[in-house]
Amino acid sequence: MSDQQQKPPPATSGHINVFWEDGMLDHYTGEGVFDSGINPGFLDVLEKHPENSDRVRNMLSILKRGPISPFLSWHSSSPATLTQLLSFHTQEYIDSLIEAEKNGGKMICGATFLNIGSWNAALLAAGTALSAMKYILDGHGKICYALVRPPGHHAQPTQADGYCFLNNAGLAVQYALDSGCKRVAVIDIDVHYGNGTAEGFYRSDKVLTVSLHMNHGSWGPNHPQTGGINELGEGAGFGYNLNVPLPNGTGDNGYKYAMTEVVVPAVRKFDPDLMVFVVGQDSSAFDPNGRQCLTMEGYRAIGKIIHSLADNHSNGRILIVQEGGYHVTYSAYCLHATLEGVLNLPNPLLSDPLGYYPEDDSFAVKAVESIKHHHKQVVPFLREVVDH
Ligand SMILES: [Zn+2]
Repeated sequence: MSDQQQKPPPATSGHINVFWEDGMLDHYTGEGVFDSGINPGFLDVLEKHPENSDRVRNMLSILKRGPISPFLSWHSSSPATLTQLLSFHTQEYIDSLIEAEKNGGKMICGATFLNIGSWNAALLAAGTALSAMKYILDGHGKICYALVRPPGHHAQPTQADGYCFLNNAGLAVQYALDSGCKRVAVIDIDVHYGNGTAEGFYRSDKVLTVSLHMNHGSWGPNHPQTGGINELGEGAGFGYNLNVPLPNGTGDNGYKYAMTEVVVPAVRKFDPDLMVFVVGQDSSAFDPNGRQCLTMEGYRAIGKIIHSLADNHSNGRILIVQEGGYHVTYSAYCLHATLEGVLNLPNPLLSDPLGYYPEDDSFAVKAVESIKHHHKQVVPFLREVVDH
């Protein structure tokens, strides 16, 4: 990737440093009936596993050839080292993944396939998130985006889950703490609960994990967490994991409402010195894995809110980490819109080719009101937060 290496730009907030490595395309997840890896023989045309390299190829190409390209510069990374992995995961767990690849690969847990090439891709994804974080911490840039796969936010310290092996964002957050950051806020808008990241910092008051997700609940032993409002953290970390489970069909206005009513007041109070924005375009209106109905406009608006929070609290510093997003076209477009928002551009650069259905935010508003009420009653650091 050295041909893409550019001189570091000045550390302004009008620019995003993208970190990417081609080797992440080598993670092959198979095909079958959706993400099952199984072919019962009923269909002539099988589809690729939703977490396939095509989705990320399109994210890569829209950023290189779309109208946002002049605002981006490109950077390479190296694979994460074992020592780095042990800052979040256990040795035993890492050994089990290495062993699985050595034996030719297997399904590690439901719909989560580790094949030959997957481990190297996972190490590159973790290394890419770490390199992007280091770039910010070293003062070279304020906004960095780690375009990574396999995704990471379901990976718990001792457990793979939901297409994830290594927690890319979690490793980067731990690295920031080890480098002297005092408080890191993680805002996760992937359609699924960021249970792995939450689990990693569940007993810490130095990391505020906030996850906005579809109200999907637990999905088995590899994902025992429900993502409900009562999973608030433990010990010193009590109150520092805020779940915002949103009704199906929440849409752009519902997400904006959840951001302004729940996320913004909590981040204001927490006052982080670094923001980590965990993005998944599977909360879009056309994703096979989600029902949340965001369009490009909604992603753009959320990006702008993150920009403004970072400006007020973390000196503009934001690490963006890629997670899910499975519609091969719309995920790329929604990513483009998200980054436009994070750059706080005054006008959209790209029009929406798909998002044209009307939405109904009345259920979402009701759910957000009740989540807000709950947090104010039970979370100690939010008790004095006044309505605005
Ligand atoms: Zn997801």
